[in-house]
Amino acid sequence: MTSRPKIGVLALQGDVREHFSALDACGADAVGVRRVSELRSIDGLVIPGGESTTISRLLTVFEVLEPLRELLGDGLPAFGSCAGMIMLASEVLDTRPDAQHLDAIDMTVRRNAFGRQVDSFETDLEFAGIDGEKMRAVFIRAPWVERAGDAVDVLATVPNGPAAGRIVAVRQGAVVATSFHPEVTGDLRVHDLFVDIVRKAR
Ligand code: GLN
Repeated sequence: MTSRPKIGVLALQGDVREHFSALDACGADAVGVRRVSELRSIDGLVIPGGESTTISRLLTVFEVLEPLRELLGDGLPAFGSCAGMIMLASEVLDTRPDAQHLDAIDMTVRRNAFGRQVDSFETDLEFAGIDGEKMRAVFIRAPWVERAGDAVDVLATVPNGPAAGRIVAVRQGAVVATSFHPEVTGDLRVHDLFVDIVRKAR
């Protein structure tokens, strides 16, 4: 099948370029999006890693927060990594009081949850629905999911160490979120999964 879905990468702040390369390699046309008109022209949206409070502020400044929340409510497929996961949550702990989020997944996410001593770490984990080798997961000042609603599928948890069992990848309908950064490892399987979700939703 030759159809290349058009997937927007929210290009306000964060590691936008890494998602571009991954989406391209998975057979999607990736475009940077900032404006509401651009958001209305895409088949799916990636919210990159970065700093969620900055992304939140810029979404408000550009007046895209409400329209984007509506598009997601209407079924726009989305994938968020790290700060993107935070943005997709319905509740965020340890954030700024004025920070906004998009309510696309019924979950409570804690920012910077792994603590100062372990700002960044890597591990290999099992990812539900993705067979083969374990997935290398890179965590950078990452959030975890502290509560996942009934409609949410847990796709991955931390396999061992002090945070063992913590939820780090979820899906609700056409919306996927990971605490870690699949866009930086060269492992395309999460992006492949998302492009597939977008193709099926078209
Ligand atoms: N700590 C960042 C935040 O709160 C997320 C870090 C990341 O995206 N790598 O948004």
